[in-house]
Amino acid sequence: MATETAVRGGSWLIEDAPPDGVFTRERLNDEQRMIGQTAEEFIDHEVLPAIDRLEQKDWALARTLVQRSGELGLLATDVPDAYGGLDLDKVSSVIVGEAVGRCASFATTFGAQTGLAITPILCFGTEAQKQKYLPRLVSGELIGAYSLSESGSGSDALGARAKATRQPDGSFVLSGEKMWVTNGGFADVFIVFAKVDGELFSAFIVERGFPGVSTGKEEHKLGLLGSSTTPLVLQDAKVPAENLLGQIGKGHKIAFNTLNYGRLKLGAMCSGGGRMAIQEATRYAAERQQFGKPIASFGAIRQKLGEMVARQYAVEAMLYRTTGLVDGMLQGGHGPERILATLEEFAIEASILKVASSEAIDFILDENVQIHGGNGFVRDYPAERHYRDARVNRIFEGTNEINRLLIPGMLARRAIKGGLALIPAAKKLMDEILAPAAMEAPGDAPLDAERRAVTAMKKVALMVLGTAMQTYGEKLADEQEVLLAAADIVIDAYGSESARLRAAQVRLQGDRVRLEPDQIALHEAAARVYVNDAAARVEMSAKTALAAMAEGDTLRTLLAALRRLLKVTPVNTVVLRRQLADATVARRTYPF
Ligand SMILES: Cc1cc2nc3c(=O)[nH]c(=O)nc-3n(C[C@H](O)[C@H](O)[C@H](O)COP(=O)(O)OP(=O)(O)OC[C@H]3O[C@@H](n4cnc5c(N)ncnc54)[C@H](O)[C@@H]3O)c2cc1C
Repeated sequence: MATETAVRGGSWLIEDAPPDGVFTRERLNDEQRMIGQTAEEFIDHEVLPAIDRLEQKDWALARTLVQRSGELGLLATDVPDAYGGLDLDKVSSVIVGEAVGRCASFATTFGAQTGLAITPILCFGTEAQKQKYLPRLVSGELIGAYSLSESGSGSDALGARAKATRQPDGSFVLSGEKMWVTNGGFADVFIVFAKVDGELFSAFIVERGFPGVSTGKEEHKLGLLGSSTTPLVLQDAKVPAENLLGQIGKGHKIAFNTLNYGRLKLGAMCSGGGRMAIQEATRYAAERQQFGKPIASFGAIRQKLGEMVARQYAVEAMLYRTTGLVDGMLQGGHGPERILATLEEFAIEASILKVASSEAIDFILDENVQIHGGNGFVRDYPAERHYRDARVNRIFEGTNEINRLLIPGMLARRAIKGGLALIPAAKKLMDEILAPAAMEAPGDAPLDAERRAVTAMKKVALMVLGTAMQTYGEKLADEQEVLLAAADIVIDAYGSESARLRAAQVRLQGDRVRLEPDQIALHEAAARVYVNDAAARVEMSAKTALAAMAEGDTLRTLLAALRRLLKVTPVNTVVLRRQLADATVARRTYPF
């Protein structure tokens, strides 16, 4: 597998990757495809047909389905064989995540089990804890859950009030109420965060059967009706000393690293949901007749389908590129410490993916409802359920605002610490753009205009980040609006570069992956649409940020530099979207 082995998180912003240096969905090997197919068949044949029963809160069925996914090995991808796992690479976990994402309610149940319950025990558990819990979680015999949030502390997770009081025998007594616990209604084991002596944020493995542990009523939710969400009540709950997870006072490491991996997995689930929704929209558009024609023949609908495909394409490009980076670093060993270092290394990319994928799927599902017209608004068709189910993706695993703030925040921190040569790159760039420009001559190779546009977007990101760090110094964190604009630029730059590299790789390797020329052209169309529109968004975000930071001559100079950098000639996206839509309709499915 070709991966960017020596690449550091965030370094893509200042270094160019060759098309061959990124992992893409086209590079899945037979083993990865096979586990993906197993997962997809399981969801299509066993889970989706049962969705009504799940939505009626048939948790016995939910438990059976988790067990069934355990039998198929789907819960085991991340876990070493010593604990009953399959010890596969992260690409395999992601392809399973995509398949499971076809049923959002079950994906949430599944994600809490694999990402939120198994991951922290795997990375932070003692040998005895791993032996005791992992094999039974991996088989689905035990159901896991993760209890970080409270009614007063969601984004501000470290503000938790749940308390753990040390007892003379080394055990703990936990008290407090946790909120919004996925799988709460039927979980056997909870990863619970509470403050030892009211101060030291720590994690515990809490079993439902421990005295003083109970769960509350199901929440009445907008969506994900087939997934359980309840409070967890800890009323002087007795937790043995050996169920402390990790070290006292180090719970934040467990909480945040679990979320880093959770964001990658959420990206996979959003991606899988997007693929399925495009298929659904396409089939409906091909069959639904108005004015004596299928609605898929109207430009307004073709435009929608084409844009849905382009956004989905970019999400997949980011997802597999990021996962390839993670697997690349894990090739040097994948013990718990290495896994943690890797998750931290690519935390920026995981946040980018979380924001981009959750917003792309909301766009896709909104257009899916629109393409279904009135039928999109009634329960006879699944479009309505998908639309409601997806909304929470922008809220959990760190809200999109929090993730957006994290992206430039982490970049700035790495730049200051010297791990990422952002400051010299920004300085060099400012010298370049303030000097009379020697613009690169446009080439006419395929995707060359997009390559230049991506380079420009990355330079704009550096310019905005560099100016923000210089303008606000240590007070940068207080300037959230500027940080959000910077994050949007970074997200668009990563999405655009990933989409372009994917398409360029397909062209380079068309023969090896046995692709027809029209399929290669389709990849290029998706990348070109995405890059073109991202460049326009980047310009807007940069103007917002620069105008907030500078005025007068300084602002005029920066805006002139921005214009020079982003000299992107618009492409005919009408034709490209039609090309994407027509291929999608002809195949009655997402074409990649
Ligand atoms: C269906 C569902 C399942 C869930 N499952 C779990 C689970 O299994 N385990 C678990 O622990 N939790 C779970 N959660 C909780 C979820 O993680 C939180 O809802 C989420 O972290 C947001 O916290 P909050 O709801 O308190 O919102 P708040 O933190 O109050 O945020 C409200 C708004 O303010 C913004 N905001 C907050 N702080 C800042 C800031 N510093 N700067 C800028 N904007 C800010 C937010 O972005 C948001 O827009 C679940 C929630 C839902 C709805």
